[in-house]
Amino acid sequence: MSNGKNIEVDCLSCAVTSGLIEPEGGTVIETEYFHAHQDVAYPIKGLIILAAKRHIKCFDELTEEESSDYIRLLKRIRKAQRIALGIESVYYFYNEDTTHHFHTWMVPRYDWMYDFGRSVESVRPILLHARKQLSGEENVKEVLLAVAALTKELNENKG
Ligand SMILES: [Zn+2]
Repeated sequence: MSNGKNIEVDCLSCAVTSGLIEPEGGTVIETEYFHAHQDVAYPIKGLIILAAKRHIKCFDELTEEESSDYIRLLKRIRKAQRIALGIESVYYFYNEDTTHHFHTWMVPRYDWMYDFGRSVESVRPILLHARKQLSGEENVKEVLLAVAALTKELNENKG
C-alpha cells in the first residue's frame, strides 16, 4: 500500500480499516488502533462494527495500548448511541474464528426484536430479518441519518 501498511487482501476488516473500502455512511470514528462503521447491509439504526486496525484474531493479541483504546471507544460509542439515538440496550459480540479480523458488533436492541426471542440465539435471525426486510430505501435513509448523528456526537464531544 502507498501508506506503507500491509494489507491482508482477503480480509474485509483490513480493507475497511485501511480505507481501501469506504463503508456506506463513512467512518463513524477512528483512532490510531481502531475503526468504527455501520454495516449498512444490516440496516439497523445504530448498529456499529468496531474493528482493530491490525490484522489480529484474538482478544489476547491486543497490546496494552490497543486494549485501553478498545474499552474507551466501546464506551464512547455506547454513550453516543444513548445520547444521539436514545438506545437503551446493546448486544455486543465478536468471534475469533472469523475470516475477517478482530471486530466487535454492537447491536442495539429495539422492541420489534423481542419477537425473535431474547438473548444470543435471537441475534442471527434478527440480522437476517433486517437484511431481507429492512433494506428498503426509506429505512436505509434513516439508518444513514443515524450514522451521521453518531458520527457528529462522537467527533464533536471527545469526552
Ligand atoms: Zn485483517
